[in-house]
Amino acid sequence: MRKYSIFLCFLFIINAVSAQLEEARRITQTLCSKELHGRGYVNHGDSIAARFLEKEYSKIGLNYIKGHDSYFQSFAHNVVTFPGEMSVILNNDTLIPGVDFMVDPNSGSSNEIWNYISLRTDELFDQQLKERFLDSKRKITENVTGCVIDIRNIKGDSLKKMRLEIIPLLAQQLNVLVISDEKFTYSVGNEPYSYSLIYVKGYKFIGVSTIKTQIQARFKENYLSTNVIGTIPAIKKTKKTIVLTAHYDHLGKMGKNTYFPGANDNASGVAMLLELARYYAKNTVKYNLVFIAFAGEEAGLLGSGYFVQYPWLKLEDIEFLVNVDIMGSGEEGITVVNATKHSEKYQQLIDINSKENYVPIVKSRGPAANSDHYWFSERGVPAFFIYTMGPNKNYHDIYDTYENISFSKFIPISELLKKFINGL
Ligand SMILES: [Zn+2]
Repeated sequence: MRKYSIFLCFLFIINAVSAQLEEARRITQTLCSKELHGRGYVNHGDSIAARFLEKEYSKIGLNYIKGHDSYFQSFAHNVVTFPGEMSVILNNDTLIPGVDFMVDPNSGSSNEIWNYISLRTDELFDQQLKERFLDSKRKITENVTGCVIDIRNIKGDSLKKMRLEIIPLLAQQLNVLVISDEKFTYSVGNEPYSYSLIYVKGYKFIGVSTIKTQIQARFKENYLSTNVIGTIPAIKKTKKTIVLTAHYDHLGKMGKNTYFPGANDNASGVAMLLELARYYAKNTVKYNLVFIAFAGEEAGLLGSGYFVQYPWLKLEDIEFLVNVDIMGSGEEGITVVNATKHSEKYQQLIDINSKENYVPIVKSRGPAANSDHYWFSERGVPAFFIYTMGPNKNYHDIYDTYENISFSKFIPISELLKKFINGL
């Protein structure tokens, strides 16, 4: 009988865990679905995601923050989008977006067969030659509409200078095709170039004589994005609050048929945020808990920046903030940004983890401006940013899919976070 009840209890735990995981998978899969368009700015993908989160918050039973009559905090920002044509044809070879080529997030539009010149990188580094090129460019503008630069052989500071200074300068004057074998890593642009800027893999640029592109870029000014904010009050009335955050936006679309699913980054983190919300809805603690799904993180930490400027609660009432991103891995442990700044709290995480062995390592990292915790840290709010590490290296590309994340440490990490939060 005793054995039997232990068995039942064991079954119950297994079922609870698999239900939690199922729920995390459902949320991640929904956020990554085609219908949400990569949670960016084409077809209002981010707004669709916000409405989905609104439903989830209300299902869990999160309250509105006092003085507000919805979960939504909206803000305006400028953004470059690619809602339509996205074609690059070299000779007769139509390239695949995201695989063979990628546009720069700030690329302008084009719809033409290029009359192009090839530029050597050493010419572009030489100040005199550069000026001569730009002078002569003015003279040849009428017939030259583009240039090709091969950056495969430059490295280090030269590569940096090429990418950050020279190529952007060129893209303000003519179409630019850059041959590069680096991993494609996309982002969100908000300062469009006048002309198209395209990165093409070296294996596709062999014996090319004709370049034809059709790229539709659209600059949206004052686009409205929305933070989604809910709360669970403390057992006993208090001002003290713990804030838990995860960004839900991603990179959206690159043309009408290609989108960035952003499964690990950061559908998985939103799934973690909702897992914590579900848990604390049933297990209230001595602090108020505020849950924020931030918008516009990929566009430059915009949602969190706006929130800190127009906070819905006093920043000095925040005892601690935990921001989570990339929660789908963990096979190689987690990294804690700001660990060096809050070493006592970091030690608490280490202690909890060493008792239960949730993840192989809880790695320390110093302050970094790499996610939404940043603006809070700048204002003196104690905060950690936690992300997982593992073999899945699909980051800001079309391969960051639901199918490619393991969730192998999702439940252990959720336990670690709950114990950490409960001990604050
Ligand atoms: Zn992210």
